[in-house]
Amino acid sequence: GKTFTLPTGLFINNEFVKAASGAKVTSINPTNEEEICSVEAAGPEDIDKAVAAARAALNHESWRDMPGSERGLLMFRLADLVEKNKEVLATIETWDNGKPYGDALNGDLQEVIDCLRYYAGWADKLHGQTIPTTPLKFAYTLRQPMGVCAQIIPWNYPLGMAAWKLGPALACGNTVVLKPAEQTPLSILYFATLLVEAGFPPGVVNITNGYGKDAGQALASHLGVDKIAFTGSTATGKHIMKTASINMKAVTLETGGKSPLIVFPEADIDQAAKWAHLGIMSNMGQICTATSRILVHESIHDDFIARFKEAIKSTSKVGDPFASDTYQGPQVTKAQYDKILSFVESGTSEGATLTSGGKPCPLNGKGYFIEPTIFTKVKPDMKIFREEIFGPFGVIVPFKDEEEAIRMANDSTYGLGGAVFSQNIEQAHRVAARIESGTVWINSSQDSDIHVPFGGFKQSGLGRELGEAGLAAYSQTKAVHVNMG
Ligand code: ADP
Repeated sequence: GKTFTLPTGLFINNEFVKAASGAKVTSINPTNEEEICSVEAAGPEDIDKAVAAARAALNHESWRDMPGSERGLLMFRLADLVEKNKEVLATIETWDNGKPYGDALNGDLQEVIDCLRYYAGWADKLHGQTIPTTPLKFAYTLRQPMGVCAQIIPWNYPLGMAAWKLGPALACGNTVVLKPAEQTPLSILYFATLLVEAGFPPGVVNITNGYGKDAGQALASHLGVDKIAFTGSTATGKHIMKTASINMKAVTLETGGKSPLIVFPEADIDQAAKWAHLGIMSNMGQICTATSRILVHESIHDDFIARFKEAIKSTSKVGDPFASDTYQGPQVTKAQYDKILSFVESGTSEGATLTSGGKPCPLNGKGYFIEPTIFTKVKPDMKIFREEIFGPFGVIVPFKDEEEAIRMANDSTYGLGGAVFSQNIEQAHRVAARIESGTVWINSSQDSDIHVPFGGFKQSGLGRELGEAGLAAYSQTKAVHVNMG
C-alpha cells in the first residue's frame, strides 16, 4: 500500500545527480520482460567525482577522526531504517532481480540488517597491540582505515553483497564508492536515501551505477582508490586484480564456484536429497557457492535420484516471484537464461542424460523461467561438470569410494564451497578437512552466517569477508616503535 519513488541518479556527496557521461542503463523486470526504469550510468568523469568526494570525506574530521562509537551509532541507525523499509526494499529487489519476495524479505533483507548491526558493534572495538621489544624500547600498533574503497557488486544478492562490503568498510572508518551491477541497481539506490536519513556525512558512501567496462573499469584503474573489493565472475575478478596493480590497490575477490556435495552410503539420504535440492535450486541456482556437482556413492545413486526428483516435485514451484508459494522465480536476465539453456544443449550433446527439466517454462508467455534441471550419467570431463552454470541446474555423478569422491570433489579450478553428507562423524570431519574450499558444510548446504569468515580457495577468490576477517580486509596495521633510552 505504501507509495515510494525510485531514485535513478548517481549518488555522490549525498545527492542524486545526472551522469556527465550522458549514458543510462535500463532495468528489466525478468518476470514479464518489461522495462522498470533507466538509471544514470557513470563514466570515467563521474567516477573521478565520486572518488574525489570519498577522498574529501575521508580527510574531513567528521569521518576519519570520528570516534568509533559514533560511527557505530550511525550504522545502527542505518540498520533500523533498513528494517523499517524492508518491505519496500524487498519489493524493489524482486522487481529488479526476480527472486521470490519471501526470500528477499526474510533472507536477504534480514541479512543486511544483521550484517550492519554486527559491524556497527565492532566500530568501537578495533584496537592494536603493545609489543615489548628490548628493555628500553617497545612498539605499538595502530589499526587505520585503508582509505577510499571501491566495491563492485554482483546482481544475485544486490543489497546483501553491498552490506557484506559496506559493513566492515564503514566500521573501520573508510569511505566508499560502490558500483551496483548494471542488471540490478534499484534496491541499492533506494538504500542510498536511508544513508542520508541516518545522518551519514556527504561523500562517505557514493553509489555509481554503470556498466562494468566503463564505471567498473574506471574504479579498478583509478589512482585515487586504495582498495577494491569485488564479487562476480572469475574472469572479471582476474581482470580487476590485474588492473588494480596499477597502484597496488589492496584487493578482495569473491569469484566463481562449482562446489561439490558428497553423499556417502552412511548419509541420511532423505536429509541429503533435501539439502542437495536447496543447494542448487534456491535463488534460481544463482549462488556462487551453489553445490552444483552432486557426487553420490554408487550403492545409493538411484535411490538418491528418486528422492531428489521427489524434492523437485514437492518443493520447486516455479512462478510469479510475488506469489507466496513460489520457490523459483525467473533467471535474472535474458543473457543468463540463454546461457543456461546452452548448457542443456551441451550436456545432451556430450552424452549425459537429462533426467529432469531442461526447458523454458514462461509465465503467460513471458519471463526468463527455466525448469529445475538435473543431468545424470555425467562424466568429469564434460563441460556441465566443469563450468559454472549459475542456474537451477545440477549434475549427479556416482563414485566408488571415499578416495574417489575426494578426488572428484577437488577436480576443479574452483574452491568456494563443499558439502559432506554422512552420519559417521569421523568420516564427515575427515572429508571436510580434505575438500579444497573456503567453506564446507557437514549435513547441510548454503548455510552462511555473518559471524563466520567467507571466501574461496584456488580461483574462487582472494581474502575473506564477514566475521572478524572482514575487518582485517578493511584496515591496515601501522607499527610505531618507541625508544625510551
Ligand atoms: P556477470 O558475468 O555474471 O555479469 P561480472 O563479473 O561481469 O558477472 O559482474 C560482476 C560485477 O563486476 C558487476 O558489477 C559488473 O558491472 C562488474 N564488472 C564487469 N566487468 C568489469 C570490469 N572490466 N571492471 C570492473 N568491473 C567490472
